[in-house]
Amino acid sequence: MKFYRIIGAVTAGLLRRAGGLADGRTKTIWKEMFRTMKKALVCGAGGFIGGHLVKKLQKEGYWVRGVDVKRHEWSPERADEFALLDLREPENCRKALTVDGGTFDEVYQLAADMGGMGFIHSAECEIMHNSALINIHMIHHASQMGVPRYFFSSSVCVYRDMKPGEPEMSEDEAIPANPDNEYGWEKLYAERMAQAYARNRGIQVRIARFQNCYGPEGTWTGGREKAPAAICRKVAEAENGGEIEVWGDGSAIRSYTYVDDMVNGIYLLMHSDLEGAVNIGCPEYVSVDELVQTVAEVTGKRVRIKHVPGPVGVQSRNFSNARIYSLGWEARYFLKDGIARTYPWIAEQVRLEAEAA
Ligand code: NAD
Repeated sequence: MKFYRIIGAVTAGLLRRAGGLADGRTKTIWKEMFRTMKKALVCGAGGFIGGHLVKKLQKEGYWVRGVDVKRHEWSPERADEFALLDLREPENCRKALTVDGGTFDEVYQLAADMGGMGFIHSAECEIMHNSALINIHMIHHASQMGVPRYFFSSSVCVYRDMKPGEPEMSEDEAIPANPDNEYGWEKLYAERMAQAYARNRGIQVRIARFQNCYGPEGTWTGGREKAPAAICRKVAEAENGGEIEVWGDGSAIRSYTYVDDMVNGIYLLMHSDLEGAVNIGCPEYVSVDELVQTVAEVTGKRVRIKHVPGPVGVQSRNFSNARIYSLGWEARYFLKDGIARTYPWIAEQVRLEAEAA
């Protein structure tokens, strides 16, 4: 099975390149190949996880259209076709979903007005308005246009806060609901909306609840970055033996999932029979201070932590991965390995920015 996928991906890659050539016969072959290729739409392809997902789908032999309000900052040429569209508008959703006289085999909905805790706590209205509109229109038009399979990127922010040491929480314990922030409430609504369409309109829906995700080519500065990227940036900017500021008292417990593991989980889940929400996350839980120590260890720098007031979010997390494990998924990168792959990329961005200043 894997062998045939690799052959398919290589052939698709060669023909994809040939499609750009002027020769008429090559174009005809490309057209025929295009007609038979599986086609995927990635919404939010200009963003972090969406950008990595495009790469994964192309490797698996798909023809991929990316859609976003912005181009991918670091790999603008990724995706076979890229459309700049605001998916809050219903007609743009239909444009995004239209291909080759029909629609896509698979739609991956990752577009969201999104950021780390700083953004989530300061942009409640933007999150509730913008992300809800995208999700409302995308599932509606995807089902109306006959998309067979639809993926929605939810978050573990749908769960209530937990106490350190609490037993694992499974997916159905999200209800009765008490998310800590509006981002979590919007995700819950969008999950339920997608599930309503699955029950009533015959579209297959797969929903993943992501734990905190990190890796290269993610937002690393500007106010929307999440904790792993922010800590990598602060450590990169600090002198050896210097001090970095950390929001809160450093005791909040989280799990961090490396982006390659996340996109593998998305792909496995999309092609499975698992209905209902599915947690995807690395089973290693650390405090924020331990995250800082891990980054410092990877870089070989000594840093002192100064705890300062700031939005922290929930105190603790501990989620069951039994459903995604049932598909054979496991995290291949624990925190230290993932940071070792992420830090050099962020340090390079810090260096380039300093050079440009
Ligand atoms: P991201 O911000 O890098 O990507 C989201 C993309 O959506 C951005 O490129 C943004 O421009 C685009 N977008 C926003 N508004 C749009 C609009 N109106 N029309 C079209 N595109 C629009 O975020 P990410 O980290 O890649 O997250 C992807 C998905 O995964 C999101 O739904 C997010 O809520 C979810 N998620 C992410 C994490 C994480 O740790 N990164 C955790 C849980 C859930």
